[in-house]
Amino acid sequence: MHYLSTRGGIAPIGFAEAVTMGLATDGGLLVPAELPRVDASTLTRWSSLDFRELALELFTPFVGAAIPRHDLSALIERSYASFTHPEVTPVVARGDLRLLQLFHGPTAAFKDIALQFLGNLFEYLLAREGGRVNILGATSGDTGSAAIQGLRGKERIQVFILHPKGRISAIQERQMTTVLDANVHNIALRGTFDDAQRIVKSLFEDLPFKSAYHLGAVNSINWVRILAQMVYYFFAWGRISGGDPERRLSFSVPTGNFGDVFAGYLARRMGLPVERLVIATNRNDILTRFVHTGVYAVGEEVHRTLSPAMDIQIASNFERYLYYLHEGETGRVRALLEAMRKTGRLQVEPAHHAQVQLDFSAAAASDAETLEQIAATFAASGDILCPHTAVGVHAARGVPDCVCLATAHPAKFNEAVREAIGREAAPPPSLRGLLDKEVRCVELDATVDAVRGHLESRLGAAA
Ligand SMILES: *Cc1c(COP(=O)(O)O)cnc(C)c1O
Repeated sequence: MHYLSTRGGIAPIGFAEAVTMGLATDGGLLVPAELPRVDASTLTRWSSLDFRELALELFTPFVGAAIPRHDLSALIERSYASFTHPEVTPVVARGDLRLLQLFHGPTAAFKDIALQFLGNLFEYLLAREGGRVNILGATSGDTGSAAIQGLRGKERIQVFILHPKGRISAIQERQMTTVLDANVHNIALRGTFDDAQRIVKSLFEDLPFKSAYHLGAVNSINWVRILAQMVYYFFAWGRISGGDPERRLSFSVPTGNFGDVFAGYLARRMGLPVERLVIATNRNDILTRFVHTGVYAVGEEVHRTLSPAMDIQIASNFERYLYYLHEGETGRVRALLEAMRKTGRLQVEPAHHAQVQLDFSAAAASDAETLEQIAATFAASGDILCPHTAVGVHAARGVPDCVCLATAHPAKFNEAVREAIGREAAPPPSLRGLLDKEVRCVELDATVDAVRGHLESRLGAAA
């Protein structure tokens, strides 16, 4: 399988290169040159596979000859051995609520599903092809800890994660800073998340520095993150349908950077019988407005909500959807992005907007509605939802046969849970005792120079 850029500006590359390239060199996002079709008899056969076997089948055409099947299988085994539930992503049904639980990994949020695999894949490719990589990222909470857990202790990889000091929850901070492996470097920045992102971006734009220090990224535009997230859509469908290819299901997906729901969209394009994909957003509702109006327009600022992993202005994977919406016409994609860059908004043609409304429905939930949903679900079934999941369950109201993606364990967000139902969710083992553990973290001023100097001193005068 080859990979292309959504902006049409690179020669086709193979899977291994796509994994390490992250962002395409023309500024676009990488997409597979074609999508394999999954026919009805394959769907039926896949429905009896367990999560790991299914991942192997699904990944194989995308990986192509880049990794021998036996090695790919071993990478998948290792990646999902860190999950505490035997089914990895179980579907739990209570009454007419179906939850696809994605939080049984080491950091209790769905990003583990992709980042456990991506960490092992990086290590494997670097060992085979030589070289090393220094991962640099900024986090507002969940991504940093999932990246650290995916990369800790890996050969040939150092990981530097910036978080805004005092502006993430105590649990989220400890999930990162209590990881003491020598290759993990936590940096508490005296500034905001926007400062952290700006610093990371400018270090990546400093091309001589980037190449001398082998900087790499694991953020949500990495193709492997999308690929790994497709597995659980097929898995949930198989468990619920029993393999009946006539059976259609809908999925409601709490959405920020558009990575998770985009994986569902590609699964449907491959042939998974999906009726409706519901984009669920919080007050930061740029995607919901896009589905309703065909206009994608940046609002004035990012609002802080009870579902912080979805407090995002610009959804970084949206460009991939534009590419598929325009059937791979990269000139159209470039024109729309250019309009976006100049004016802060883009608008798709009426015919394309009609297609958007066939592809997705969308709804936003306020913080009050989020709390109300946590309380209503708890009263009805005893299940405690995390606030992100609650946004998705709220958006799924009235959608028949809908599977709601449960993206984080509620104990990660117990402040919101307590506010909704007056008690807290019991933490899973991975979140217990964090406040008593030893921590390691350096504090830096929120300047590019301070962070660059820190990288140089830790990595030695490279080049
Ligand atoms: C990251 C995250 C989301 C949003 O996922 P996207 O792929 O960015 O749309 C939703 N819920 C939780 C708990 C998350 O950590």
